[in-house]
Amino acid sequence: MSRSTELIHHAYLPPAEFEAPQVGVFKASTVIFPSLAAMREREWMDKSSYTYGLHGTPTTFTLEERLATLEGGTHCILTPSGLAAIAHVDFALLKTGDEVLIPDNAYAPNKSLAEGELAQFGITHQVYDPQDVNDLASRITPRTRLVWLEAAGSVTMEFPDLSALVQLCKARGVLCALDNTWGAGLAFNAFDLTPGQGKLGVDLTIHALTKYPSGGGDVLMGSIVTRSDELARVLKLTHMRLGTGVGANDAEMVLRSLSSMPLRYKAQDLAARTLAAWCASQPAFSQVLHPALSSSPGHANWQQLCVTPHEPDGLAAGIFSVVMDERFTSAQVDAFCDALQLFKIGYSWGGPMSLVMPYNMASSRVRSASHLKRGRVVRLCIGLEAAHDLQADVLQALQSAQLQS
Ligand SMILES: *Cc1c(COP(=O)(O)O)cnc(C)c1O
Repeated sequence: MSRSTELIHHAYLPPAEFEAPQVGVFKASTVIFPSLAAMREREWMDKSSYTYGLHGTPTTFTLEERLATLEGGTHCILTPSGLAAIAHVDFALLKTGDEVLIPDNAYAPNKSLAEGELAQFGITHQVYDPQDVNDLASRITPRTRLVWLEAAGSVTMEFPDLSALVQLCKARGVLCALDNTWGAGLAFNAFDLTPGQGKLGVDLTIHALTKYPSGGGDVLMGSIVTRSDELARVLKLTHMRLGTGVGANDAEMVLRSLSSMPLRYKAQDLAARTLAAWCASQPAFSQVLHPALSSSPGHANWQQLCVTPHEPDGLAAGIFSVVMDERFTSAQVDAFCDALQLFKIGYSWGGPMSLVMPYNMASSRVRSASHLKRGRVVRLCIGLEAAHDLQADVLQALQSAQLQS
C-alpha cells in the first residue's frame, strides 16, 4: 500500500475506552457505516445512531441531552443562533393562512421575521399586551396556531403572568412557545409552572445559547426544547429539511461553559440587583426596570414564579434597564453611554463583560406602555466584574455627561 493511501487507511485504531471530564470534539460531515445493512438500519432521530454530521455527533447529541435536562424538557434541537431557533419554530409549525401572536415586548427580530418572511408566506401576526391576559384572549381566533411568550420581556423587562397566559393557550387549543433566554432554565421551569405537579407548561422553548450557556460573548447558538414526542418529530423533520447545523467546536465550547452556568447566573444576578437598587436611588434615572424590584412592572408575577423554597430570594438574569429622566436629550443620554468605561457598547448579554445599549421604545412598540415612565431607555447587561467597580463607572459617567452634579 502506498504511503498516501496508508495515511488515510491506517491500521492503527486508538483503544475505544477513553473517558475525560469534557466530551470530545467529534467533527464530521461524513459518518462511516460498517455495511449497507447497517446504514439502512440507522435512525438519527432518536439519537440511537449516527448517519451524517448534520444529524448529530457524540458532541451535539450530548449537548442536546444536557440542554433538554436543564430546561425540564425531553427533546432538544440545536440551531446556529437563538434567532435561527425562533425562525425554525415558525417555519416548522406555521402554514399559509395561520396567525401567530407575539408579545409587544418580544425580542425585536421575532416581530421582524413575522413582518418579513412570514408575511410573504401568507402567515399573519398580531402583537398582544403580555401584561393583559384578556388582551391575548381577545386576539386568539380559529386561525391562531402559535403564541410566542417571553419572560421577562426584552429591554423593558415586564414579567408576565406566565401561568395564566399558558393556561389560556391550553384552553383555546393553541401552541405556546417561550423564549426562555432570560430564565435560562434556572430561574423557573417552563415545562412545570405548577412546581412539582407538572400540570402546566409551555409546549416548547427556544433559548439563545449565545447568552448564558456560552458565557463568553464568543459563540452564536440556539436550542429548541420540548416535552412532546410529536412536536419533537415535526421540529426534527424541519431541521433535516432546512439543514441548519452547528459546528462541533462551538458545541464543545457551550458544553464546556454549561457546567459553570448556574454559578455565573447567580453571580451576575446578585451584581445586577445590587447595581439596580443603587440606580433606583439616583435622580438621573426616573425608573429602573428589573423584575426583582418591587416597583418594576410584573414584579408580583416574577415573585410567584421565581421565588421558591430552594431560592428564597428568587432568581433573575443579570440584566436590567433604566429610564433616563425625560428632561435629558438623546445627545445627553448618548454622552452618558459613551462616558462609561467598563460597560462596553454592544449587543448581547450573559458574557464576562458588562454592556450598555440605548433603545428607542417609540419605534419598537406597537402600543403605548402606560407603566413606563417617559424618557429614553438604556439597557445595562452585567458581566462578571465587581459590582462596586460597575457602580463607580455609572457614577463617573453620570458626572462626566453632566447628568448629575
Ligand atoms: C439574543 C436573544 C435572541 C437571539 O439570539 P442570537 O443567538 O443572538 O440570534 C433571542 N431572544 C432573546 C431574548 C435574546 O436576548
